[in-house]
Amino acid sequence: MMSDCIFCKIVKGELPCVKVYETEKVLAFLDLNPVNQGHTLVIPKEHFENLSSTTDEFLSELVVVSKKIGAAVLAATGSVAFNLTVNNGKEAGQVVAHTHFHIIPRFNGDGLRLWSGKAYAAGEMEAMGEKIKQYVEKN
Ligand code: 5GP
Ligand code: ZN
Repeated sequence: MMSDCIFCKIVKGELPCVKVYETEKVLAFLDLNPVNQGHTLVIPKEHFENLSSTTDEFLSELVVVSKKIGAAVLAATGSVAFNLTVNNGKEAGQVVAHTHFHIIPRFNGDGLRLWSGKAYAAGEMEAMGEKIKQYVEKN
C-alpha cells in the first residue's frame, strides 16, 4: 500500500467510492469523471504503479473481472459494446499511478475516437516486426 495513492486509499476505505464488485484481489468502482455514464475502473487491491509492473497473478484476475463487469455495465446502461482500456504510463494518458482497467460503455455515434493512423513507408513494417520479435525473445 502507498499512503499517498488515492486508489490505495479507496481500497482501504479512507476515500469513498461507488463499489460495484470486489474479490480478494481486485476492486471495481465507478469512475468519478466518466467518459460515458457507467464508466467503471477495475484495480488490484495491492499497489502496482502500472500494467507493466503488475504481477501476472493480479493481471489475470483484472482481465477476468473486467469481462464480468463489462457484461454488467452493458446490461445496466443498455449499451452493446465497451472499450477495455489501460493507459500504461504518463505519455499514454495515465494520471493515477496505480494500475487500473477502464471499462467504457459505448453507444452508436457517441463521438469518441481512440485511434489515429501513422502509416509505414515501404519496408518499415517488416523492420518493426523484426525488432519487436527480438525483444520479445530477450524478455
Ligand atoms: P488514467 O488517466 O490514470 O488512466 O485514469 C484515471 C481515472 O481515475 C480517470 O478516469 C479519473 O476520472 C478517475 N479518478 C481519479 N480520481 C478518482 C477518485 O478519487 N475516485 C474515482 N472514483 N475515480 C477517480
Ligand atoms: Zn496505490
